[in-house]
Amino acid sequence: MGMIMYGTKVFTKFKGYFGEREECPCCHKTYKKSYVKYTTWFHLNEIPLFPFKSTYYKMCPICGDSVEVKGKQAKAEMVVTGQPETQKLEAYAKHILANKPKGFLALDTSYEFWVKDVTTGEDICVATGLSKDVVKNMKKERGLKNFNFFDV
Ligand SMILES: [Zn+2]
Repeated sequence: MGMIMYGTKVFTKFKGYFGEREECPCCHKTYKKSYVKYTTWFHLNEIPLFPFKSTYYKMCPICGDSVEVKGKQAKAEMVVTGQPETQKLEAYAKHILANKPKGFLALDTSYEFWVKDVTTGEDICVATGLSKDVVKNMKKERGLKNFNFFDV
């Protein structure tokens, strides 16, 4: 019989952009906020059994600056006004091959996190000098499913 491992795992899901466009105090970009649902599951031997906690984060879609919003309040704020969504953003990572370290064991921090405003065509660099794990964490924090890595 194997060892029984239990614990919790957090799953994130991007729910959409809601509210009015507002300037972010951190990056000064003006966008509607992303709402991301965080669900904590109890798991046994890596198998999620049941969710026992969920909360939302209202997040700047560019720099990721966020505040926690309780479920009830988040649902009240996540109201679609009936107008078609005009905000289209795509997050992606660039892997700068020229900056890749040569050493076998060196941590490769040549990744950059970018967000493209599909509507205006603007490419916004969010962070540079990242490892692949940091990029994956940023993707998870934002609850993103579609995400690409590009070698440049
Ligand atoms: Zn921001």
